[in-house]
Amino acid sequence: MRGLTDKRVLVTGGASGIGQATVQRFVEEGAAVAIFDRDSRALEKTLAEIPQVAKGVTVDVSDDRAVAEAFRELDEVFPAIDILINNAGISVRHESFRSITPAQWRQVLNTNLNGAFYVASETVRRMDHGVVINQSSINGLAAFPHYADYNASKAALLALSRTMAVELAPQIRVIALCPGAVLTPMQRAEYTDEMFQQVNDNIPLGRHADPEEIARFLAFLASDDARFITGQHYIIDGGETARAAL
Ligand code: NAD
Repeated sequence: MRGLTDKRVLVTGGASGIGQATVQRFVEEGAAVAIFDRDSRALEKTLAEIPQVAKGVTVDVSDDRAVAEAFRELDEVFPAIDILINNAGISVRHESFRSITPAQWRQVLNTNLNGAFYVASETVRRMDHGVVINQSSINGLAAFPHYADYNASKAALLALSRTMAVELAPQIRVIALCPGAVLTPMQRAEYTDEMFQQVNDNIPLGRHADPEEIARFLAFLASDDARFITGQHYIIDGGETARAAL
């Protein structure tokens, strides 16, 4: 294996989609995994499906006080954390930039950016040596219409990741991942069948990623095999952005 055995891993948004596949992957690599997710029913289901998970906490990462409380609960199981997969996120398709309300804007930024900061901040206090991976998106690198709030949150995560990487080196590596289209509940819910096909047609590999393919890359980036990698972002998108220079 790649040095992930017995590592203490926290995955936010681990009760669905990419996060859940990541939980599964790290469990298979022999890691001790904890999940933070706001959806208690999905979390319960995940804990039943992956009984090796060490701890699941229902928490809304956009609430800083709730995050602090969740970490106190986690401390009882994990006195320290080795790897954070900072993955919880939401996206909302807006009719146009003009229709985005301040409340909608705040909801997306509070979850995707502020939530990631709250969790990273509490994590690094409990991390001597380790790895933080922030889940950004190709939407953080280019203009995807109808998603101004989401795009802005994911671009800001790239800046946050770079800065953390420089300040926290050499003890902590910090990386951002930029997936393209991944077939998860979040993504599928936004599509009509026609939209789904259009997205596939725009991807040179002709399909969405499977969440497991993202999870495998996350496991590599978190492992000792990637020990000289920090401060960078990585695109995993089936070639979608290769058409434009990013
Ligand atoms: P998903 O909806 O399947 O899963 C997201 C999980 O995060 C859910 O379990 C949800 O309950 C949890 N969550 C959402 N808001 C939360 C909050 N405030 N506090 C705690 N938990 C919260 O989504 P997914 O597609 O697996 O996306 C996971 C991450 O990957 C997101 O950050 C997303 O932006 C990013 N991403 C997804 C895609 C894609 O195509 N699916 C592409 C690029 C990046």
